[in-house]
Amino acid sequence: MKIGCHLSAAEGFVPMAKQALETGANTFQFFTRNPRGFKAKKIEEEDVKEFLEIVKKNNFAKLVAHAPYTINPCSADKRVRDTAKALFVDDLKRMEYIPGNFYNFHPGSHVGQGAEIGIKMTAELLNEVLKKEQTTTVLLETMSGKGSEIGASFEELKQIIDLIDLKDKTGVCLDTCHIYDGGYDIVNDLDGVIKQFDNIIGLDKLKAIHLNDTKNPFASHKDRHEKIGEGFLGIETIKRIINHPKLKEIPFLLETPNEIEGYAKEIALLKSFYNE
Ligand code: FE
Ligand code: FE
Ligand code: ZN
Repeated sequence: MKIGCHLSAAEGFVPMAKQALETGANTFQFFTRNPRGFKAKKIEEEDVKEFLEIVKKNNFAKLVAHAPYTINPCSADKRVRDTAKALFVDDLKRMEYIPGNFYNFHPGSHVGQGAEIGIKMTAELLNEVLKKEQTTTVLLETMSGKGSEIGASFEELKQIIDLIDLKDKTGVCLDTCHIYDGGYDIVNDLDGVIKQFDNIIGLDKLKAIHLNDTKNPFASHKDRHEKIGEGFLGIETIKRIINHPKLKEIPFLLETPNEIEGYAKEIALLKSFYNE
């Protein structure tokens, strides 16, 4: 099973890898920089070198870097879009220190311009920053549809991808809290939702799963994560997700409201439910 959690203490790659191992994980997610601000820590060559050795030695699955959620690639304000672009460029450059991993981002909020314009702007930005030489796959996250968020439907994500030139550099990260909040009933019809994803986007594009329970009922468009088994998804749904033949080999990343001990408990619990 490929499983890990979001680690917030970004004091360098080696401390994160050690923390991940302590939680029983074999992958993890991290913010590329301060999620609310934009400051990034300088990359230390020694740290990266030692980190890559740990990754190899422990056979880590692919890692997921998460872009700050304060950026908006489809803002109506050009300066805000330019900030998003500059961050993308810098983050993708930094990602090449740890080649071949994932960079996940929120497609953005159209802020009243309409989804169609938002979709175009986000795709445009990706076309400006994606490079043939990059080894990173950029993941569009499925959103809950809070406010004017784009990417809450599989159709919208597909429309963005369709507009991208370097499609092989893109994938999707499915967030279980977000899609349930967004109106995909994975409690009563997981198979149907997976089929829909496959028909619209294609399961070959599904690269990572944010495994979260939700504090809110179906189609609430709220986006508030809950601990595994304590929300509206419930433990039976979570068990079905991690063992689904179409999903079980994909890396699962927890973004539940937990400190490190809580994450370790959830990882142990999920491993105990996973059918090898
Ligand atoms: Fe996210
Ligand atoms: Fe998420
Ligand atoms: Zn969320």
